[in-house]
Amino acid sequence: MIAGVPKETCPGERRVAMVPHDIPRLARLGLEVLVERGAGLEAGFTDGEYEDKGATLASREEVFSRADLLLQVRAAGANPQGFEADVALYRRGQAVVAQADPLGSPEQVRRAAGAGVTLFALELIPRITRAQSMDVLSSQASIAGYKAVLLAAMELPRMFPMLNTAAGTIKPAKVLVVGAGVAGLQAIATARRLGAIVFGYDIRPAVREQIESLGAKFVEIDLGVEDAETEGGYAKEQSEETLRRQREALARQVAQSDVVITTAAVPGRKAPRIVTAEMVSSMAPGSVIVDLAAERGGNCELTRAGETVVEGGVRIVGPVNVPATVPYHASQMYARNVATFTASIVKDGALVVDVDDEVVRETLVARDGEVVSARVREILGLPPLPSSSAPEPTEGAS
Ligand code: NAD
Repeated sequence: MIAGVPKETCPGERRVAMVPHDIPRLARLGLEVLVERGAGLEAGFTDGEYEDKGATLASREEVFSRADLLLQVRAAGANPQGFEADVALYRRGQAVVAQADPLGSPEQVRRAAGAGVTLFALELIPRITRAQSMDVLSSQASIAGYKAVLLAAMELPRMFPMLNTAAGTIKPAKVLVVGAGVAGLQAIATARRLGAIVFGYDIRPAVREQIESLGAKFVEIDLGVEDAETEGGYAKEQSEETLRRQREALARQVAQSDVVITTAAVPGRKAPRIVTAEMVSSMAPGSVIVDLAAERGGNCELTRAGETVVEGGVRIVGPVNVPATVPYHASQMYARNVATFTASIVKDGALVVDVDDEVVRETLVARDGEVVSARVREILGLPPLPSSSAPEPTEGAS
């Protein structure tokens, strides 16, 4: 069985799905690995390093035509500009493991199904302990949280740490992090390492302890919400009235912050609106907002994805695809996630789609020409698959 690693084609995407270090892990699963020439260069991995670890270099056409299993960072809806070109190269029965934005762009899952590929969307890895080492959302969010703080530090006309110098005392920056999931907690830790005074807030009160253990202060707001969290540990979507009360309660904290980093998200939904234009106007000129939810509509009313907006001297940064700006380590972590996931679908050099395995069942979105994910089918308005045609475990298919 051959695994193929194409170069990423989405504009600005500098990551690669597999790094040289993990090629031997794939080889131990019985996979031969074909890597497109130059696939890792932008992330800092040379063709020679892949060859040294046992991979074979090939052209893009060769990778697509020979691989039984394609490993990508972005496919389907996660690669809006490049996916059509991939579809033209896909072979029926080929398996694809990638981020595919299945809930945001379900139509593209249908397109992948039409191309006859077996598509595993890594965003749907369940949040269970066993799957932590495959969880690309977590590994990449951690990188984004780190980088968000650096982006803020670059924009801020102040320093982060407190300094006592012969030229006077410098007060530490005040940073507010809204949303303390994986990205938010890493942002809190990074801002603390730089010496800022950090405040953290999340709608899920359960994160209080985590925020405090990183040396930040928890911003307590009682919204009277009993069940802020789903069983999977995600935030639930809140009513507009709850969000309004939340904005009111956060206004003072925002006004007093030099930096606000927002990371609030609800899976499959538009980002909650947390910072209004009025709240921005209450911030001191020179303050900075970094909105990590920019791609999903933004947590700040003034955010524009991919741009920095300046309003009343406040800079609102709306970065997109932040993990790709730290491509070496983002690829290293992504590749480790992918290699671990691959071990659950490849046994003795053959593809084994065991839908009794929760991780496989949840991530499998297209197969045998059909959209097979119940969640994606529902968004597309497709009827549920009859249980007789729900995915059966198969051995040896490619
Ligand atoms: P996410 O990216 O979906 O959301 C980011 C944060 O925004 C979350 O903490 C969420 O509570 C918060 N949020 C949503 N709406 C908000 C609002 N209106 N105001 C303030 N905050 C709001 O979250 P994530 O980083 O993917 O993590 C979600 C949870 O899953 C966390 O508890 C995390 O520890 C857990 N998790 C578990 C596993 C695992 O067990 N395998 C892996 C990763 C994450």
